[in-house]
Amino acid sequence: MPKHSIRENMLATRKHMAAATCLSTSLRAQERLVLTDSFRAARTIGLYSPVMNEVFTEMIFEVACRDNKVVVYPRVLGGDLQFVHVQNKHEMGKGAFGILEPTGQDICPASAVDFFIIPGVAFDVSGHRLGYGKGFYDRALHGLPDRGVLAGLCFDFQLLPQLPVEEHDVQMDLIVTERRAIDTGKRSAVRHSFT
Ligand code: ADP
Ligand code: MG
Repeated sequence: MPKHSIRENMLATRKHMAAATCLSTSLRAQERLVLTDSFRAARTIGLYSPVMNEVFTEMIFEVACRDNKVVVYPRVLGGDLQFVHVQNKHEMGKGAFGILEPTGQDICPASAVDFFIIPGVAFDVSGHRLGYGKGFYDRALHGLPDRGVLAGLCFDFQLLPQLPVEEHDVQMDLIVTERRAIDTGKRSAVRHSFT
């Protein structure tokens, strides 16, 4: 099935999740994520602001702040993503595509992020990711030297056996849902600099 058909089907299914289900299932997925070794070891976390029934991230933000991690969120800058340090949710405002973005200027190079938490429309068990079709994360993360761990966060129904892949698609090291955390084996889960 081509990428655009999978996107349409998956977005339609996710749109119909009841708000209460989205909230409770998101909590379970976040609980699983914050328990992974690579999240616990990371000092700088790349997080996202959820839209359109993506897994919520509020709890991850709270746990990261409590553990004195640096949390950065993406901001759209032309066709690229810029990551900005956020200490308080008041430092966010509506940005491109109606997504909450950081308003501050404490910019963090993507190469300094230890652990990226990445939303998606669908993922597969090998770590391939399907986004909204604009390739933002592919461009931001492709070819980063010594990059951090890439963790796809999604509901279990978004995790498929196999997705179509193109050469520019970045592959996740870890996929976390409310049911499972899969190390895709693409690299050691924790890079040398913080072991
Ligand atoms: P998504 O990852 O959002 O599902 P796609 O993988 O279909 O979207 O990518 C959308 C477009 O983004 C691609 O057709 C390509 O033009 C562009 N793109 C992705 N990665 C890169 C890159 N590293 N450099 C330049 N363009 C890219
Ligand atoms: Mg892609």
